[in-house]
Amino acid sequence: MRRAHLAAWAVILGMGVTVAAGDDPAPRRPLLVTVDDLPVAGGGLHLDPAERARVTSDLLAVLAAHRVPAVGFVIWGQVKGEADRALLERWLAAGHELGNHTADHSDLGKVPLEAYLDDVERGRAGLAGLLAPHGRTVRFFRYPYLREGETAAKLDAVRSALEASGQRPLPVTVDNQDWSFERPWVEARRAGGQAALGRVGEEYQLALRLEVLTQTALGDELFGRPVPQVLLLHANEVGAAQWDALFSWLEGRGYRFATADEVLSDPVFADPPRFVGTHGPGLWTRIAHDRGRDKARAAVTGLLEEQVSAWNRGDLDAFCAVYADDAVFVTPSGLTRGREAVLARYRARYPTPEAMGTLTLEPVEVREAWGFEPNPFGDAQPSRVHAVSVVARWALTTADGAEASGLTLLVLHRVAGRWLIVQDASM
Ligand SMILES: [Zn+2]
Repeated sequence: MRRAHLAAWAVILGMGVTVAAGDDPAPRRPLLVTVDDLPVAGGGLHLDPAERARVTSDLLAVLAAHRVPAVGFVIWGQVKGEADRALLERWLAAGHELGNHTADHSDLGKVPLEAYLDDVERGRAGLAGLLAPHGRTVRFFRYPYLREGETAAKLDAVRSALEASGQRPLPVTVDNQDWSFERPWVEARRAGGQAALGRVGEEYQLALRLEVLTQTALGDELFGRPVPQVLLLHANEVGAAQWDALFSWLEGRGYRFATADEVLSDPVFADPPRFVGTHGPGLWTRIAHDRGRDKARAAVTGLLEEQVSAWNRGDLDAFCAVYADDAVFVTPSGLTRGREAVLARYRARYPTPEAMGTLTLEPVEVREAWGFEPNPFGDAQPSRVHAVSVVARWALTTADGAEASGLTLLVLHRVAGRWLIVQDASM
């Protein structure tokens, strides 16, 4: 478990361990509150216009009480008639900014690119019409489910389209599952279950505080300084009831509610990572994941360079030290199992440094193997890099001038913190 997680759990469990945010009296850390799925989140849970108006009033009241300048993200297809337009007007009148969250809340990983771009534009155009009389434009975009594309081509195409239409993607650093508390909350309220409401509220607070602490520690660890945060919330009824306690807790831990322009001016947001994947974790998680991939790639390519050096100084022991005990070595002439057998095979074929000659190895392609795994809240997070495969071109020149070359496919696993070749197919 990461140290950051330990610190966060310790605070949540009341063990009195604190993280930097709480210890640092000044300056207070900027935090941007973003609110997704306007006018009212929760799909079919809130169809009654009076209930939608009440949830909106309650959300705006708590934002005002804590002087929070929020950015709300509108699903334009959820704006049902004049009553909902009036709710959005209230967000604007309260001084908040509205951004585009598409018309139909499409999942970029599940719809074709053209359909997604059309959804983005319908959302933008609808919202632009609402903002125009106020002299405002649509400046920000929020990807539904935070999913930015499961292919590099999709990711780049959507980014280009957003840039061309003047919309900046607004990242999330504190991703969480606040939306998942809405149904149990509303069902408990409708059933008149006070005890159940209390439990849902307590769990909401614990879950969100843990995410805030975890992501704060992770962001600070990545950049070596206190970095601003962007919190994701949803425009729902459980939020209307719970934000006051959450915001008070944030203030007590040294956070200061800041505008989008202030927070986004921090250089940590200048160069968003090109995170290609089926799911959408928070920004710090993406950056940490990219760094982990870079590190794994560098470790593996460095190891192969060392292995080539070992060969070229005639050190077969060192050359074979990077094979796992149970490595499998495959060539057109057969299969060899285990590092000792691989070493014996090389010894027999290359008895002297002269016979070994000079080796070069040119990587053609390097791929890291990783996937998404659920975190304790059931949210999909990218795993560590568990394996790396390398396709490389090898060439051998011996003292008598003979040359040989071919291709190899190497599979490396991290075994007890060390990268080792587990499979080698050379031809
Ligand atoms: Zn959404």
